[in-house]
Amino acid sequence: MAGEIVDIGAECGPWRVGDRVVCETNGSVCGKCRMCRTGSPQHCPDLKVFGAHTDGFFAARCIASIETLHSIPTELDFVTASMTEPVAVAYAGVISRGHLELGEHVVVVGAGAIGIFAAQIARAAGAASVTLIGVDRDVPKAPLIASLGLGELVVSGRDNVVEAVKGQTRQLGADLVIDAAGVSAAMQTALDVVAVGGRIVKIGWGPNPFGYSLDPVVAKVVSIVGSRGHGWLDWERVLTLLSSRTIDVDSCISAKYEIGEWETAFRDMESGRNVKSVVLFHD
Ligand SMILES: [Zn+2]
Repeated sequence: MAGEIVDIGAECGPWRVGDRVVCETNGSVCGKCRMCRTGSPQHCPDLKVFGAHTDGFFAARCIASIETLHSIPTELDFVTASMTEPVAVAYAGVISRGHLELGEHVVVVGAGAIGIFAAQIARAAGAASVTLIGVDRDVPKAPLIASLGLGELVVSGRDNVVEAVKGQTRQLGADLVIDAAGVSAAMQTALDVVAVGGRIVKIGWGPNPFGYSLDPVVAKVVSIVGSRGHGWLDWERVLTLLSSRTIDVDSCISAKYEIGEWETAFRDMESGRNVKSVVLFHD
């Protein structure tokens, strides 16, 4: 969410009415648990997310804690700044949790918004190669993906995914695989393409059981890491990346909708027609 401060509490300095801000998704946290005390309130067991567990984000106004606010650089408008949250999800996965190093080969499984942002971040962070793997319904996005400098989309079920990754990685496999899909097949793909000694960061999640052997985790001595949400620093870094246009989100904003059209906005993302929808509010 991106907007302007219209009212403020007594002890909320240095924020002022009129400041342009983005707001993290943490509607409320306990402030006392281990995660809250160690700088990761987004993992508080009592976390209530705006728009899901507590009011806000689907209204023209909401009440936010000052700890969740970030100043929008002057170069960014509200629409572009509103993409900070999904890009921060990708940033946390690739950088904060994936610890991508310069020259590593990266595979991103899942060509939705998070996958496309993750691939852009990996490219910007100096990956030797970035291979983005999608499915049939992602094919219409292939020209956009190519225009973002992310190469040719590899389509699971159509292309030989393992051979495609070998071709990109000098036959070694991927040092870092980002699972931005969450279906059980995506994890199997990740295990197929990860290099010996490589890492898999699982951002996507879903309720389906695996249904296959996890022996490759042992055989390839793979590290699997979960990544959920984003921290304060992830947001700050992403705002800098958006401001410098290092990450192109504007090309990924497929359409804008009024709040009365919210169902269409979500449906057009679920169908794969839109990479990202933006909903506009007028106070
Ligand atoms: Zn807590």
